[in-house]
Amino acid sequence: MQSKSLAAITAETMAACGVSAALDVSGGMAVVSPVTGEAVATLAEHSVADAEAAVALANEAFRSWRMIPAPRRGELVRLFAEELRKSKEDLGRMVSIEAGKSPSEGQGEVQEMIDICDFAVGLSRQLYGLTIATERPGHRMMETWHPLGVVGIITAFNFPCAPWCWNSALALVCGDPVIWKPSEKTPLTALAVQAVFERALARFGGDAPEGLSQVLIGGPAVGETLVESEKVALISATGSTRMGRIVGPKVAARFGRCILELGGNNAGIVCPSADLDMTLRAVAFGAMGTAGQRCTTMRRLFVHASVYDQIVPALKKAYASVTVGNPLETPALVGPLIDKHAYDAMVAALEEVKELGGVIHGGERQDVGPDTAYYVKPAIVEMPEQTGPVFRETFAPILYVMKYTDFDDVLEQHNNVGGGLSSSIFTTDLREMETFLSARGSDCGIANVNIGTSGAEIGGAFGGEKETGGGRESGSDAWRAYMRRATNTINYSKDLPLAQGVVFDI
Ligand code: NAD
Repeated sequence: MQSKSLAAITAETMAACGVSAALDVSGGMAVVSPVTGEAVATLAEHSVADAEAAVALANEAFRSWRMIPAPRRGELVRLFAEELRKSKEDLGRMVSIEAGKSPSEGQGEVQEMIDICDFAVGLSRQLYGLTIATERPGHRMMETWHPLGVVGIITAFNFPCAPWCWNSALALVCGDPVIWKPSEKTPLTALAVQAVFERALARFGGDAPEGLSQVLIGGPAVGETLVESEKVALISATGSTRMGRIVGPKVAARFGRCILELGGNNAGIVCPSADLDMTLRAVAFGAMGTAGQRCTTMRRLFVHASVYDQIVPALKKAYASVTVGNPLETPALVGPLIDKHAYDAMVAALEEVKELGGVIHGGERQDVGPDTAYYVKPAIVEMPEQTGPVFRETFAPILYVMKYTDFDDVLEQHNNVGGGLSSSIFTTDLREMETFLSARGSDCGIANVNIGTSGAEIGGAFGGEKETGGGRESGSDAWRAYMRRATNTINYSKDLPLAQGVVFDI
């Protein structure tokens, strides 16, 4: 047993990151660690008026930040990456304390922040616009990319810091101030990251305006202030599809810009030619990693009838032997569910599939720590068909396994759900692989071959279709969402020819 209380470890780790805010505010918002289910801090919450003031300050910051050359803005992000490297272990521990991730996954999340910062530093010299052939003689046409405005970033509990950085590293080099509304379940990590960012700001010097990066602590009401403010040019919201259904229309109603990163119902297809050993490991990590609480967690598995009796017993064995335990004290691969609500949702889904003919292996609550913590054995459910809860995302480690015989039919079933985030095929057959990646294949934003659905790299654009919201962030050309495009036509001739040959002589 650890000798110090979790609250003491939390306070020490926050101090090591440079946080000076009070963590024991009387009557404040309790922050509960899923590791033990105990409150590790109580924080002062921001009011709607505070949120409005933050928006005003960020807009003031925008006026000067947009005029700083992009490579100089990149220098701030470079310094931030240096500070993140110094605080990787402490920030990783905060992720483990607040989200219950293993130390390796907690630090992996911080590494993702470092990686996107490095990407953004290079990007700060590559915010390219096109020059375009014009039909008019003596003219030049080009496009210019300008900073967009204030970016509001709303994040989910299961990735307490990396998605903020996917947005903010790009937004900052693009010339946009950021306001972060982290999940009310994981606000401490956000405060720790902000303290690390402030160290970079101090080294950067005088040309960074006040209010360039702000954090608002609170629940949906604080998030809604950002969502409804016409002074927030872009809302990037990560969370449930339920949240996206509220946020999306509100931002659209004021013609704001929105990046929605919502829930998924990700699947894998195991074909007859699959490398079964590799498939087993990929599915095990994809389905059980982070206790099934990743947006990219594999939730459905379609297995060809010819290999079903090989892969499914091996999977059941892997599930039975996986270690579940306290991520701060043991090397367990699977940590806790975030709270009782998540546990109840898992129990309810398993009850429902039993009624529908599902055969459940695992899923039992584990006796780890106090009653207030919710640890479960991951569950595999053999289903006769895709039905009931299989159609929706239950944010817990449940993998529904179904047998298939016809490839075209399994593609239809694969796409016949609301979520459109991530997908995998396990095959060594070129035709199956290419079909899966083709226009009639997976309809997800992420389509993988011979790797699992989770664990994306920052270099690619991240996001998904349908109920996942359609947003893209992180790598590739996702930066364009944080800038506005102007098309410029310059006439350097002595004539005024009109486009499309239109004549208008006066
Ligand atoms: P959630 O929707 O409950 O909360 C997410 C965030 O939205 C929180 O900060 C919350 O305070 C805020 N919020 C909720 N209602 C709001 C409203 N009306 N206006 C403004 N803000 C509001 O989600 P969660 O339980 O924290 O996270 C789990 C969900 O997030 C899962 O569905 C998961 O798939 C999804 N997720 C998606 C991605 C992705 O990139 N696609 C990544 C991580 C998590």
